Amino acid sequence: MVVSILLPQGAIAWGHPVLPEWSYEGETHPDRWGDLSPAYALCAQGQNQSPIDVTAWVEGDRTPLEVDYAPTPLAIRNDGHTLQVYDQVGQHLRIQDQDYRLIQFHFHTPSEHQRAGRSAPMEVHLVHRNGAGDLAVVSILVEEGEANPLIQTLWEHSPKVGETYQEAAVQINAADLLPIDRTYLSYMGSLTTPPCSESVRWYLLEQAITMSAEQLLRFQQLYPHNARPIRPLNQRIVELHQG
Ligand SMILES: [Zn+2]
Repeated sequence: MVVSILLPQGAIAWGHPVLPEWSYEGETHPDRWGDLSPAYALCAQGQNQSPIDVTAWVEGDRTPLEVDYAPTPLAIRNDGHTLQVYDQVGQHLRIQDQDYRLIQFHFHTPSEHQRAGRSAPMEVHLVHRNGAGDLAVVSILVEEGEANPLIQTLWEHSPKVGETYQEAAVQINAADLLPIDRTYLSYMGSLTTPPCSESVRWYLLEQAITMSAEQLLRFQQLYPHNARPIRPLNQRIVELHQG
């Protein structure tokens, strides 16, 4: 087991400028993100931002979302904005002739993406990157229901703010977060946290997974609200792909 301390948010990393702290409430809430730093300008000015409220879509092609995840040692950090599982070595997503590697996954409550104005209690983001550096995020909504065994493991090992926890003896598999039906919506968006970088490919699975009320509450006690408000769709089109 390894517990380490992360640099505080905004700390000076070697050769990088200081980026300001941001938050979901108070002085540095989401409406202010774009003013906090020139590096965050897209948060205010970007026209292809996430999350969105999905109210309409067009039928897309039948491109399957092929996920190749396997058990990997647990590495989880509490970064002050969410719980993030990282070091997901050897996990792949293949879609539209692109091979992406899973980098990390994390949680938002309530969900950031909406369906016809409705949020789910939680949303999981599985963040992938391909060889060219392009990002693809698979989003899964979480409804209250049966407990999820993987979540039980994660929450039992969740570290304090600013700390990480690694344990080779605890194996986890991100596949345990995926619903059976792989029908998904796709659109081009952004990171939902500063710097709000665009050209992120979003794949929103239609079928939700469940966590128990107790599991949802346990995360919400750490982070009562860590969801960015809905951004305008503008000229973008959402496509539906049958699984
Ligand atoms: Zn996220």
